[in-house]
Amino acid sequence: MNTSVAVEGLVLAIVGVVGSEHVRSDPASLDAYGQDALRQGHAPWLVVLPGSTREVAAIARVCHESRVPLVVRGAGTGYTGGAVPTHGGVVMSMERLNRILEIDEVNLLAVVQPHVITGDLQRAVEAVGLFYPPDPASLDRCSIGGNVAECAGGPRAFKYGTTKRYVLALELVLPTGEIIRTGSKAVKNVVGYDLTQLMVGSEGTLAIVTEITLRLVPRPPARATVLALFPSIRAAVEGVTALIQRRVTPATLELVDADSLDAVRTHTGGEVAPAGTGAALIVEVDGMQAAVEEEAVIVIAACQGAGATVVSRAVDDQDRERLWQSRRMLSESLRATGLLKINHDVVVPRGRVPELFDLIQELKERYRLRIAAFGHAGDGNIHVNLMVNRTDEAERERARQAERVLFERVVELEGSISGEHGIGFAKARYIDIELSADTIALMKRVKHAFDPHGILNPGKVFPD
Ligand SMILES: Cc1cc2nc3c(=O)[nH]c(=O)nc-3n(C[C@H](O)[C@H](O)[C@H](O)COP(=O)(O)OP(=O)(O)OC[C@H]3O[C@@H](n4cnc5c(N)ncnc54)[C@H](O)[C@@H]3O)c2cc1C
Repeated sequence: MNTSVAVEGLVLAIVGVVGSEHVRSDPASLDAYGQDALRQGHAPWLVVLPGSTREVAAIARVCHESRVPLVVRGAGTGYTGGAVPTHGGVVMSMERLNRILEIDEVNLLAVVQPHVITGDLQRAVEAVGLFYPPDPASLDRCSIGGNVAECAGGPRAFKYGTTKRYVLALELVLPTGEIIRTGSKAVKNVVGYDLTQLMVGSEGTLAIVTEITLRLVPRPPARATVLALFPSIRAAVEGVTALIQRRVTPATLELVDADSLDAVRTHTGGEVAPAGTGAALIVEVDGMQAAVEEEAVIVIAACQGAGATVVSRAVDDQDRERLWQSRRMLSESLRATGLLKINHDVVVPRGRVPELFDLIQELKERYRLRIAAFGHAGDGNIHVNLMVNRTDEAERERARQAERVLFERVVELEGSISGEHGIGFAKARYIDIELSADTIALMKRVKHAFDPHGILNPGKVFPD
C-alpha cells in the first residue's frame, strides 16, 4: 500500500467521504500531523478531518478494507508518540468534532464530542456550579478524547481520581466500521463486560471515541492553596508523609525539585521560590469553607513540622492562579533549557515515594545525569525528566541505560512505568518489564477481537 497509485486511490475514497476541503496532503500538514509532544514520529500519507460519527465509520471501513494504518489524533499533546504514525497511513484528526452537546444539571453529567478542550469543558460546567476534576497540566490544549484514550491524570487525582472515574458512557467506531455504544447515563451499570473502562487508557488502539458521557460533581465552594518551600527534597517528601498521616486529603499535593524550580525561574522570570530552595510543595484543599479553613491550618502545621522554611497561603484567586501557572510551565521551562528532555511518568505506591527519590539520586550519581523531577506526590506519580545534551552521544547512551534501570526498579517498588502518559511507541520496548508474557498475549487477543487487521494505531503499546 505504499505506491503513489495506491495512495491516490485512498485519497479518492476518503475525499468521497468528507469532501476535498477536509483532506490534507500538503507537505506542511503532513509534517505537522507527523509529530506530537514527543517530537518524534513519521509523517502520514494524508490527514482527514471528519465532521460526524458516520464519516468516522466510513473512513474506518476504507482503511480496514484496504489494510491502511489509521491513527486517531486529538490535540497532539501526548508524550509517547500515540497520535503519530509509525509507518505512514492516515491520520484522522478529530478537531471538527468539538462541541459540548449537553450539560445535565440534574443528572450531573456532560455529553461531549471528543475534541472539546478539557479546560473549556471545565469552565463551562463551573459556570453552572459543577466541576469536572481531571486537570492535566496541558488542560488548555488537550482534548477530552485524548484524555479518555490516555486516562489522563493531573494534580487533582489524589483526591478526585483520574479520567476513568468520570467516564460513564461512550459512542465508539470500531476499526471495522461498526458504531457501538457502551455504558449509559445511569451511574450504575453492570450489564456485560465493562467495555467503557476497557476503552479508557487504550491509547487509540481498540476503537475511535466519537462521543463521551462524563460524570460531574458539585463545584467545591471554597479552596485554599498553600506553597511550602523546603531546604531539601528529602524534607519535602517528609512533608508529604506528614500530611497524609494527619488524615488530610488535599485536592492536590504537588512536589517540585530544585532543578525544576530553577528552570521555571529562568524561563518565566517568576519568583515562586528563591534560588537555593531545595524543593517545593503546592498543596490545595477544597470543600466547604469551614472544613477548608480547618484543613489549611493542618497543612501549614504539617509542612512547618517537616522543616519547611517558608509556608505561604494564596491570598486570592489571582495569587492562586499565578502559582498554578508556574506549575503548568514546568515542562515548557525544562524544554527551554535547550537540553533534550526525556520525560517519564513513573508511579509507585505513595509510601514508597522516598525510595523513588533515593533511586533518582542514585541514577544521577551512577550515570552522571541531570535529572529534574516533579509531580503528583500524593499519588506517587513523579515525572522524572532526564535532561540530556543533544549532541553528546555518550550522555544519551547513559540516559538509555538509566531509564531501563528506572523502570525495573519502579516495578520492584510495586509501581508502574507509566501513571498517565501511556506507552505509545516511546515505551513499547519496556512493557515486558511490567507485564508478563501471558498478560501481553491476552491483551493482543483483545486487540485482535476489535481490530482483526491491526490497522488502528499500529506499532503502539506492544513492541513490533
Ligand atoms: C505541557 C504538557 C503537560 C502535560 N501534563 C499532563 C498531565 O498533567 N497529566 C496527564 O495525564 N497528561 C499530561 N500531558 C500529556 C497529554 O496532554 C495527555 O496525554 C492528553 O490526554 C493527550 O490528549 P490529546 O488530545 O492531546 O491527545 P493526542 O496526543 O492527540 O492523542 C493521545 C492518544 O489518544 C488517542 N486518541 C485521541 N483522540 C482519540 C479518540 N477520539 N478516539 C480514540 N483515540 C484517541 C491517540 O490515538 C493517541 O494514542 C501533558 C502534555 C503536555 C504537552
